[in-house]
Amino acid sequence: MDEVSHMADLGVDFGTPKLDIGKLRTHKEKVIGKLTGGLAAMAKMRKVTTVRGVGEFLSANHVVVEETTGAGQEKTGVKKVLAFKNCIIAAGSQAVRLPFMPKDPRVVDSTGALALKEVPKRMLILGGGIIGLEMGTVYSTLGARLDVVEMMDGLMQGADRDLVKVWQKMNAPRFDNIMLKTKTVGAKATKAGIEVTFESAEVGVAAPAPQVYDMVLQAVGRTPNGKKIAAEKAGVSVTDRGFIPVDIQMRTNVPHIFAIGDIVGQPMLAHKAVHEAHVAAEVIAGEIQGNKELAASAFNARVIPSVAYTDPEVAWVGLTEDQAKAQGIKVKKGLFPWTASGRAIANGRDEGVTKLLFDDSPEAHGHGKILGGGMVGTHAGDMIGEVALAIEMGADAIDIGKTIHPHPTLGESIGMAAEVAHGSCTDLPPSKK
Ligand SMILES: Cc1cc2nc3c(=O)[nH]c(=O)nc-3n(C[C@H](O)[C@H](O)[C@H](O)COP(=O)(O)OP(=O)(O)OC[C@H]3O[C@@H](n4cnc5c(N)ncnc54)[C@H](O)[C@@H]3O)c2cc1C
Repeated sequence: MDEVSHMADLGVDFGTPKLDIGKLRTHKEKVIGKLTGGLAAMAKMRKVTTVRGVGEFLSANHVVVEETTGAGQEKTGVKKVLAFKNCIIAAGSQAVRLPFMPKDPRVVDSTGALALKEVPKRMLILGGGIIGLEMGTVYSTLGARLDVVEMMDGLMQGADRDLVKVWQKMNAPRFDNIMLKTKTVGAKATKAGIEVTFESAEVGVAAPAPQVYDMVLQAVGRTPNGKKIAAEKAGVSVTDRGFIPVDIQMRTNVPHIFAIGDIVGQPMLAHKAVHEAHVAAEVIAGEIQGNKELAASAFNARVIPSVAYTDPEVAWVGLTEDQAKAQGIKVKKGLFPWTASGRAIANGRDEGVTKLLFDDSPEAHGHGKILGGGMVGTHAGDMIGEVALAIEMGADAIDIGKTIHPHPTLGESIGMAAEVAHGSCTDLPPSKK
């Protein structure tokens, strides 16, 4: 919808879109159905037996599964005990619920927000991280006015500030209030809506006045499910916070039990979970088949990329400038503004920026390897894999800059940012010496 409305500026006006939320929800459910159905089919092709239900350890070689049915977690009362030689725990995480939040359909977590039941007039995003801002973008485009409350001093913590700044400027019109360094301390369900009260996180600073919302999205983080599977009965260690510690082969303290995904630690991301799962499965298969190469598999990724699927997208990987500063690492910056990208200009979306950071320590002798990078702009998430590959391969600015990127593409901005760092970019005015 945003892209279509933006086309009017380029001379193609499609008019005001008509929203059919029922149809939109059906499309979303179809997409999910196709993807999860595809997973189930692939498991079947590989002769994986699926048992549906809530599992708990009984011992180091047994789980009990209480069968569930329907669309949710409705229990049938039937219990099955399964014996295993090896086990991979992948029980994930769940949204943190603030204890003072009323149980009310107008208070939702990300799962509730994804149900896409209706579009609120006023929506509070509680927690200015990726999940909250992504969901907020959706509801705002569908017509909701947004407030966001965040305890820290900036939105989208963890991302490079130069990138977030661009996103924030573009998205300012979606928000009535951006409440930073502010805590949410109470909420009451009233007929008019959910009345939320705030407190400043800074001493001596006045808190924003209480506000009433049609929908409150709790997106204050996720907590691992480690304490919900009776891991102690299998002798598997679980931390106080519910994470399961594992070694580089994804092995828990019990040698034949492995764990992967959100339950083993940050970042809680699907692509990290899948890579970890491959390692666990390969190690187990190798040990069973005597295949030394598989048995030696290990999770040793240098970096794991993150993407905020907002508009524009924000994508980053490796070290950020703030992290480099905090760790005392000297970096050389290559920043390429998309105002100089032919493709971005033609798209009418030239607000983006690509930024790369290279090691500039004396030992690097001016040819430091890439340590991190990111971009804000349309399709940023589709491009960040190249930066991750460059870090994995230990590329320097010449490797990236001299790699021929096709013109005119947004991906060119990565090569250009490397050229900026190297000092050989001719697509920008000469840098001041
Ligand atoms: C709103 C939202 C948006 C996200 N967007 C992205 C994104 O864009 N990109 C990305 O990489 N990641 C994203 N993530 C994170 C990603 O979903 C997780 O990192 C990933 O799913 C973790 O995989 P997992 O296997 O560890 O856990 P999950 O995918 O959570 O799977 C755990 C499964 O175990 C089941 N389970 C739990 N306990 C039991 C039990 N006792 N018995 C039986 N079953 C049990 C759960 O029902 C669940 O199906 C997002 C998460 C949320 C909430």
